[in-house]
Amino acid sequence: MKVCKFGGTSMANSQQIKKVCSIVTSDKDRRIVVVSAPGKRFDADIKVTDMLIDCANKYLANDDYESVLYGIIARYAEIAEDLGLNKQIVTDIENNLKTRLSMSYTSTEKFMDCMKAAGEDNAARLIAYYMNSQGIPAKYMNPKEAGLFLNDEYGNARVLPQSFKNLSKLKDIEGIIIFPGFFGYSLSGEVVTFPRGGSDITGSILAAALEVDVYENFTDVDSVFVASPKLIDKPKAISALTYREMRELSYAGFSVLHEETLEPVFQRGIPVNIRNTNNPASPGTMITPTRKINECPVAGIAGDKGFCSININKYMMNREIGFGRKVLQILEEDCIPFEHMPSGIDDISIIVRQKYLNDEKKSRIMERIAKELRVDSVVLEYDLALVMVVGEGMTSTVGIMSRITKALANNNINIRMINQGSSEVSIMLGVSEEDADKAIISIYNEFFK
Ligand code: ASP
Repeated sequence: MKVCKFGGTSMANSQQIKKVCSIVTSDKDRRIVVVSAPGKRFDADIKVTDMLIDCANKYLANDDYESVLYGIIARYAEIAEDLGLNKQIVTDIENNLKTRLSMSYTSTEKFMDCMKAAGEDNAARLIAYYMNSQGIPAKYMNPKEAGLFLNDEYGNARVLPQSFKNLSKLKDIEGIIIFPGFFGYSLSGEVVTFPRGGSDITGSILAAALEVDVYENFTDVDSVFVASPKLIDKPKAISALTYREMRELSYAGFSVLHEETLEPVFQRGIPVNIRNTNNPASPGTMITPTRKINECPVAGIAGDKGFCSININKYMMNREIGFGRKVLQILEEDCIPFEHMPSGIDDISIIVRQKYLNDEKKSRIMERIAKELRVDSVVLEYDLALVMVVGEGMTSTVGIMSRITKALANNNINIRMINQGSSEVSIMLGVSEEDADKAIISIYNEFFK
């Protein structure tokens, strides 16, 4: 049995949906199909999820939400019409959206999640309807009915352990199951969504629960590339990656898979295959627990911007037991997650994502660190980008760092921070945001040209 997930571009219009159906029916093992909301049809287009968010915000602000609402309905109507479907499905979708808007909610976040989830939910209903019209036995499955329960962190939910047992029962249902991605239900029965891009997570949870042979994740590229095609012209394709490599690359900006996707399948060692809806003949990229290491030690290079560094200095810091804990506790008390913590003898830098530090939190934590820890100095440095060089083949290979630093030096790029974990599977370099793209290109050229 296979779980296959189709992303937003695979659901964007009727031609794409026809491709999805032919991919699904070409392999009888493709029994569980997870779908995203219709995504962009062209570069300047707007994803249905973004339209839903806009509609919900306008509704809350007593603004003209109806034009957006009818724009959303029009997206589904266009697909339904091009697929030759009965108008009833569009009326059903319209009623579904209007019901969500008019229900009473006890909080804004509950309302927002219920609206966001409508994109996937209606896409799943529509594709099941289409398959049945083509004589393909397919059943829309509601996540509550299937038992996909999540915690109640609205917009950022995590799966609850009992869901796996519940979902494993889907095995007994005959025919193809169409499962909407991106949301589940809290134990009190409310719609809760994963973070944006979270349909990947739904697919992974189902793959793990059903212990399938492979989780196929269909997107719009032939494979994962060594570096972003936005920066490198025709970058080298990657045919195999380990979970660990993919996780590190997703963390640092590879947008092919949502960063949290691999957790459920990782526990059970289920392979993930990234494939292309527009080119199903391509074998794509296989992600597995281990892989054969080829001659190139580096598997991928990624970079992400928007970090800052809290640089703390205190003479004799190394003798002060508990200093690190006290700093982190100050951050914890303000709900600020830290990403990395490179240190020297008398200094420590805490790398955090800028988006977690609003002005109020910033001044509070800086003041607390200065006063409560009696440091010599504490400074906040902005505009930091993290560039990750990742590869299982880097473990115990001599000279990788020297090649990276040479490539950066030759291009006049200053390294603000370096971090390498003991696994040696990744090296992280902090550079100024303005140097980030140049750094990735220089390292790519060093290893792949
Ligand atoms: N539709 C949602 C989003 O745009 C989830 C997904 O596509 O995975 O974030």
